[in-house]
Amino acid sequence: MPDADAIRLPSNLLPSDGRFGSGPSRIPPSHLEALAATGTTLMGTSHRRPTVRGLVASVQEGLAELFSAPEGYEIILGNGGATLFWDAAAYSMIEHKSQHLAFGEFSSKFASVVAATPHLDEPDVRRAEAGSAPAAEPNPAVDTYALTQNETSTGVTTQVTRPSEDGLVLVDATSAAGAIVFDPSQVDAYYFSPQKAFASDGGLFVAMLSPRAIERIERIAASGRAIPATLSLLTALENARLNQTYNTPAIATLFLMDLQIKALLELGGLKGANERSRQASDVLYAWATTHAHATPFVADPALRSPVTVTIDFDDTVDAKALAAVLRSNGIVDVEPYRKLGRNQLRIATFPATPVADVERLRDAIDWVIERLADDARAPQTA
Ligand SMILES: *Cc1c(COP(=O)(O)O)cnc(C)c1O
Repeated sequence: MPDADAIRLPSNLLPSDGRFGSGPSRIPPSHLEALAATGTTLMGTSHRRPTVRGLVASVQEGLAELFSAPEGYEIILGNGGATLFWDAAAYSMIEHKSQHLAFGEFSSKFASVVAATPHLDEPDVRRAEAGSAPAAEPNPAVDTYALTQNETSTGVTTQVTRPSEDGLVLVDATSAAGAIVFDPSQVDAYYFSPQKAFASDGGLFVAMLSPRAIERIERIAASGRAIPATLSLLTALENARLNQTYNTPAIATLFLMDLQIKALLELGGLKGANERSRQASDVLYAWATTHAHATPFVADPALRSPVTVTIDFDDTVDAKALAAVLRSNGIVDVEPYRKLGRNQLRIATFPATPVADVERLRDAIDWVIERLADDARAPQTA
């Protein structure tokens, strides 16, 4: 492996911000400064008082506007991220049996959670190779369909549509929410964590629930099923109606998410945000499509994610060495999802990342590929 630290990128190839990770993702420095500027007025104050509850209300109202939430839909939140929401759904939403579209690490994990939940039947799991996506299949035995809008581990985006008139539709929108348009009438629980397109920190789960989802949550809670308090979505809902969380939330996470929701609304809402990410990701897909040594990992253009771009390299390019050189130059977290194990880069193009930064990154990658090839050709001096 070449000495990554010995290769210095020319300054005109350095993006204004080197963070291209798929989560935690880049947080605008101005938002961090705004957080610091709250000084003694927010952090370290009670989450049961108007300052923090006002922040929760602002997040709820902002998301309802951003998602064009239909009448009767409600925004709930709590600690634990999307990962906890899988457990909560297994206890509070799935009645007997769920169907899962599994096409990567995250979508598969939810299926595993359900398979290990004693009170639920074996889930109906539809699988597809990494880089593609399976289709849902209406199944009368299934009461819940689990979809993933953007499979962050592979960079595959799917359309969110109801597989059947019956059954709840749960959508893991963790890396899609805030960056990809969707039709809220097609979803019953649209859930995510804030450290991806919402340019915030981790720690919380957020979910938009339809009236059908709320009815299901209430019915299961009344059924006598033993539900741990942190996994009770009824408890989360009752608290959300008071602009609270069941236990102490991550307050900085709320603050940063609130600022990004406002920034997304300024961009033109979901449509504008989606366009921004599409433009940024197209810079990379267009480049990779014509590159001698690179190809988009996702073969079907319709499935290519606008927010998590996965680019494969042929064996003349060592993607690990490439990522190491970029990292030593301050361009971080473009390594592929660790368990995918490909000769690949994964680059996030969430709405907080300006297109100009992605263009610079593209040029920097080309420059490093050339440089590594030159170094490999150079006569070895001992
Ligand atoms: C990141 C991610 C998760 C996990 O989020 P946590 O906040 O770590 O729980 C789940 N699903 C998808 C699609 C993700 O991208």
